[in-house]
This record gives sequence, C-alpha cells and structure tokens, in this order.
Amino acid sequence: MQDNEFDLIVAGSGGAALLAAVRAHDLGLKVLVIEKGDLYGGTTATSGGALWIPLNGQGKDDFESAYAYLKAAVGDTTTDDKVRAYLESGGEMVRYVNEKTALRYRVSEGYADYYQELPGAAASGRAMEPEPFNGALLGEEFQRLRPTHPGSTLNGIGMTIPESNVMATKAPGWFGVVLRMVLRYWFDIPWRFRTRRDRRLCLGSALIGGLRHAMLERGIPLWLECALESLVVEDGRVRGVVARRGDQTVTLRARRGVVLAAGGFERNQAMREQYLPHPTRQEWAATPAGLNTGDAIRAAEAIGAKLEHMDLSWGTPTVRNPAVPQGAQPVFAERGFGGSVCVNRQGRRFANEALSYDRFQLAMYTEHARSGGAIPAWWVFDARYRKNCPFGPLLPSVAFPDSKAPKEWWGDFLFKDDTLEGLARQIGVDATGLVETVRRNNEYARTGVDPEFGRGNSVHDRYWSLRSAKPNPCLVPIDTAPYYAVKVEPGDTGTRGGPAITAHGQVLDQAGQPVPGLYCVGNNSAAALGRAYAGPGGTIGPGMVFAFRAVNHLAGSAGAPPGAA
Ligand SMILES: Cc1cc2nc3c(=O)[nH]c(=O)nc-3n(C[C@H](O)[C@H](O)[C@H](O)COP(=O)(O)OP(=O)(O)OC[C@H]3O[C@@H](n4cnc5c(N)ncnc54)[C@H](O)[C@@H]3O)c2cc1C
Repeated sequence: MQDNEFDLIVAGSGGAALLAAVRAHDLGLKVLVIEKGDLYGGTTATSGGALWIPLNGQGKDDFESAYAYLKAAVGDTTTDDKVRAYLESGGEMVRYVNEKTALRYRVSEGYADYYQELPGAAASGRAMEPEPFNGALLGEEFQRLRPTHPGSTLNGIGMTIPESNVMATKAPGWFGVVLRMVLRYWFDIPWRFRTRRDRRLCLGSALIGGLRHAMLERGIPLWLECALESLVVEDGRVRGVVARRGDQTVTLRARRGVVLAAGGFERNQAMREQYLPHPTRQEWAATPAGLNTGDAIRAAEAIGAKLEHMDLSWGTPTVRNPAVPQGAQPVFAERGFGGSVCVNRQGRRFANEALSYDRFQLAMYTEHARSGGAIPAWWVFDARYRKNCPFGPLLPSVAFPDSKAPKEWWGDFLFKDDTLEGLARQIGVDATGLVETVRRNNEYARTGVDPEFGRGNSVHDRYWSLRSAKPNPCLVPIDTAPYYAVKVEPGDTGTRGGPAITAHGQVLDQAGQPVPGLYCVGNNSAAALGRAYAGPGGTIGPGMVFAFRAVNHLAGSAGAPPGAA
C-alpha cells in the first residue's frame, strides 16, 4: 500500500470519529483520521462527555421501559430499526470501551432522563460519564487535545459531573470537595511547573483523551489541519477523499470506505439561515469557533446524499461570554436554581425555566413566534441568587464579585439596578409585567407550587438546585436588591441535520438506497434518533453507538475478519 492508501478514512476527531477509528483498527483495518483543526477532539472534547445509554448493564433498566420511552421521544421522526439498533448496541459499545481501552464509563447517579412525563422515563441509570483520565498518558499529544469549555471547569481545574453538582447545589460536604480539587491541582507540583492545564482530564476531555490514548497504543495516525473537501467515487462506490492538508491538496484512498464524522454546520451562518428557524446566529453556538461549517454534509450532498432533519439543532439557551474562545456559554444547570425567572419583552414567563435545555430553546422560538419578544429573553435574579448561584460567566458573587466583571459586559449582556422597574427600563422590558411576574414567583416560592409551568415538579428539574431551599428548591423569592438581568439567546451545542442514514450508519441517496462505501455519524449525519434529546449524553451517545455499528458493518460487509477485536 502507498502512504496515502488506507482501508478506512475517518473525517473529524470528535467522540464518534475516534471510537470508529479504534474499533476499525481492532477489526483489522488500516485507518487514518483527518481533522480540520490544529487541535483534536472537536466539540466533544469541550463537552460534558456524558453518554445516554439505556440497558448499559450498570444501571437498573429493562428493554420494555427503554423502548417505550425512546419510541415516545422520537415519535415519527426516525425509523423503528434505528431505535432498536440503539438499544441493542449501546451497552455493547460501552462494554467495548471499558474493556478494550483505558477509558472507563460509569453510570452518573441521579442524572435523570429529560422527558420525565413519558412512559418508561428513568430517574437515574441511563446517563453515563467518564472517570477522570490521566492526561500524562498522552505524552506530547496532551498539548494538542482541545480543552474543556472553560465554563465547565473551576478556573481551569477539571471537575466531574458529581463534583460540580455537589459544589453548585451546596450539597452536604461541598466545601471539602472543592478544597480537595484545589489542593490536588496545586500539589501536582511537577505538572504545575509544566503547564496550567490540569492533567486530571474530566468530562469530554477524559472521553477524547482516553480514545486518543487507545489510538496511540494501536499506532493509528491522526493528521491535524487536514480538511476533507470532497469524496472520490469510482464505479458507484466511495473510494477516498480529497483533502486540504496545510497548503496542499491531497487525494487519500480508502479501499473499504469513508466514515464522515466531521460535525454539523452550526458555525456556518449561510447554512443556518438556509435551514434553521429564524432568527439564528452562528455566534450563539457554544461550540469551537470556525470548525463545524458543514463541509462534509455538502461533500456528501454533492455525490447525491439525501439530507434530513436540517431544521433541527441540539438547542440550548446561551449567554455571551467574551472571556472564552467559543464566545458563548450554554445555560445548562443554572436554570434549575430558584430565585430567578426568564421573561419575554412583556416581562412574562413563557416556560418552565428548568425544562431540559433543548426544550427550553424550542420554547424560546415558539414564544417568539407568538409574541415577537422572546429572542433575546432575559434571565432576571436578585442579589441573594447572585451571592449563592452561578449564571453563565458569573460565578457566585462570594467568589466573583460584581467588581470583577469586565466593564464592557455591563450594558451589553449584563444589567443591574436597585429596582425591578429600573432594571426593566434598562433592558426594554415592560416594567408592570416584570413586577407582576416577580410577585407571582414569590407567591409560588411560599407555596412550593408553580401553577403556570410546574417548575420543580420533576426529579430532572431539581437535580441542579440549591438543596437547602424549601419547600421547592426551584422556586425561591426574588426580593433582595440589587436586581440583575442577563440577555439569553436561543443557541445550540451543534446541529443535527445531515445525510440520512440506515441503522448501520450507511448514507442514503435520493432514492433511499445506501451509497456503497460511505458512512456518516455524529452531528455530521441526520440525527439517528430524530427529534429526541432523550437524556444527558443524548448527542454523543447516538454518535458513538452508530459509529460502532457503522464500523462493524463496514468491516463485516467487505469481508474483514469478523470479530477480530
Ligand atoms: C459545553 C458543552 C457541553 C456538552 N455536553 C454534552 C454532553 O455531556 N453529552 C452530550 O451528548 N453532548 C454534549 N454536548 C454536545 C456535544 O458535545 C456535541 O453534540 C458532540 O460532541 C458532537 O460530536 P461530533 O463528533 O459529531 O462533532 P465534534 O465533536 O464537533 O467533532 C467534529 C470534528 O470534525 C472536524 N471537522 C469539521 N470539518 C471538517 C473537515 N472538512 N475535515 C475534517 N474534519 C473536520 C471539526 O474540526 C471537529 O473536530 C455539549 C456541548 C457543549 C458545547
């Protein structure tokens, strides 16, 4: 074989891509991974790294419940064979990772499914997270790992999901947890002399670090700054890719096939305007800037792939954060904490603030279509909330007083006033509406019941909330001046439209037939589970499960030694 000839080429280096590469190697294939950026890991490396895997063998679960839940969540937006495939292969994929790599996934206790009202919903057991991974095992490759989103670290110190939950909710023992994290970081003296970056990789960095380590052990090459431009088709079969490597155009041959795992199109403003609901801005995405611009979606379309779900994104409200390279920060956890309301231009609430982030983002669009005033929306809270709870780039004021917030944030996306009326005037919201909304919130805080939207009714809502707040931790009075407002946009953590796929990740053409030699997974493909964002890890989970299935199919279908792993 020549240097530019492989069995399989994988485009992208997120979780789905690297899992595909490792699995393909273990099935006896010669693999190359190409990545457009100068760092590897994509959005996945910056993420929470959670995987939503029903029937994972660790949590209590049964097929009937998992199937009923997922079927209700997807509705008619995907096929039954993809739902069954997901349930059949999820546990196998995680076992493969846990047994064949140094990465370890375990159930994240108490992290509930997102649609608690659906039949078969689980309060715990399906969301999984990676154990921290020792970045020192990556050697020189540590420096090329894309860092965690700064909003998910404690000033650069890595935290697991339970650690950040204990800290943010001030659960018993939280102070000891924080102290241990800080001491461990600073007493890692040899590493502190080398870099500020924590080598205890957590969340998505642990996922990508663990898979990259598995690649290094196997000698699987990864070419950075090598962007797929188009696909090579010969005799009706995909046989390779044309890529831009540095300042050169290279043709890379793939004897068995190509797996497209090069992310969605959330950083492509023109594609957003063409496909997503309006208004839409690429700056509202919380993913690394400039990478996921839909290149591989267009490359597949150019050879006849059928596109699907192009109007869907992995939605989340986001807030501007000029201090992070992404420019925006998802508002995931903050929405559970009582003592805040999210209002439209009329000063009125329009949804349960603690809904899963995906549904809350959809509610912003629905409300905007109805009232014309929910984009942007405004998160309003008081000095008591500000003291104890985080919001976007604002850590609780005990750790991050107002004086630390850069001057240019005030009057841009962050506002403060001694009265609610004054705050409403500053942000252009109806003052009577806002005062009435806060009066109602304070009444609901007293009774513990939100009769309008049911905030705090489910275990999901309460996972991120101050444990000490009673009777309902998602409902706390807003009555302590000064008052704050933060501008919130309907952003995302990626898009979920792309080439339609089979239950084996094969790309379908306009006639609904598989394109020989072409597979597509993760946010690059049309979401395998359609409109469902079923629980924590509901995006990377399907990405990795269908990557696993795609490679099994590709290896088996073209005669590789089956089960060579
Ligand atoms: C802060 C944050 C937390 C999140 N937490 C979670 C979570 O816990 N669980 C979960 O399920 N989801 C989470 N998400 C969403 C999740 O991270 C993404 O949906 C997921 O990582 C997408 O994976 P992917 O492999 O499809 O794409 P990516 O991980 O983005 O990888 C795509 C890669 O392809 C590369 N690429 C682009 N174009 C080309 C090209 N032409 N040639 C070669 N390479 C190319 C990109 O540079 C990128 O590295 C989170 C997102 C954010 C921002």
